[in-house]
Amino acid sequence: MRIVLLGLPGAGKGTQGVLLGESYDIPQISTGDMLRKAVADETALGKQVKEIIRSGKLVPDDLVISIIKEKISGDECRKGFILDGFPRTIEQGEALEKVLPGSVDVTVYLDVPRQEVVERLAGRLTCRKCSAIYRKSDISVCPVCGGDLYQREDDQKSTIERRIKVYEENTAPLVEFYRSRGKLVEVSGLGEPGDVFEKVRENISKVVA
Ligand code: AMP
Repeated sequence: MRIVLLGLPGAGKGTQGVLLGESYDIPQISTGDMLRKAVADETALGKQVKEIIRSGKLVPDDLVISIIKEKISGDECRKGFILDGFPRTIEQGEALEKVLPGSVDVTVYLDVPRQEVVERLAGRLTCRKCSAIYRKSDISVCPVCGGDLYQREDDQKSTIERRIKVYEENTAPLVEFYRSRGKLVEVSGLGEPGDVFEKVRENISKVVA
């Protein structure tokens, strides 16, 4: 099963991606997590993209396409994968079709109003080690892996606005791109993650036998 998750930053792609990964026993691939790891490890790629990520802009297509190509061609993806945060431009969507023709079985668009994602992003903490996401609260350590919880620099209010604008200009056209290929399911991302997940699974099973 090859699934693409689409939606505004903060729509719940990461959370639904983890649940889908467990359910179908396939890896969840987040380009954001991969890029943040490269920044933390101070690799050549990390140095190149650090400022871009901090400012909420998009990393150039050729860089992201090449890391995704390598990842999805690997053995761990032979049963399929869930893409969270890729593609983010039409060019990336077209590149994905070239790497693996007919590669996407279904694209799930998580629909969440703009105001809701602003509140979610400004109020969330991310685990430095396993990338799990929590609402801001008294905990400072990840209950899953013990990693530090921190507020992503690009989850600051001023950067959130830029990320939403970047999404609307570059990524939103992918909804039509996949709809025109008959691969799109639309699910409201409002509500508890477990309830959203049930709707996601139900909708996927309508499209993929
Ligand atoms: P995310 O964790 O998906 O919110 O991504 C965080 C940041 O990583 C984005 O704001 C971009 O700067 C960069 N990024 C992640 N995925 C992509 C992509 N497919 N294309 C370009 N930039 C990306």
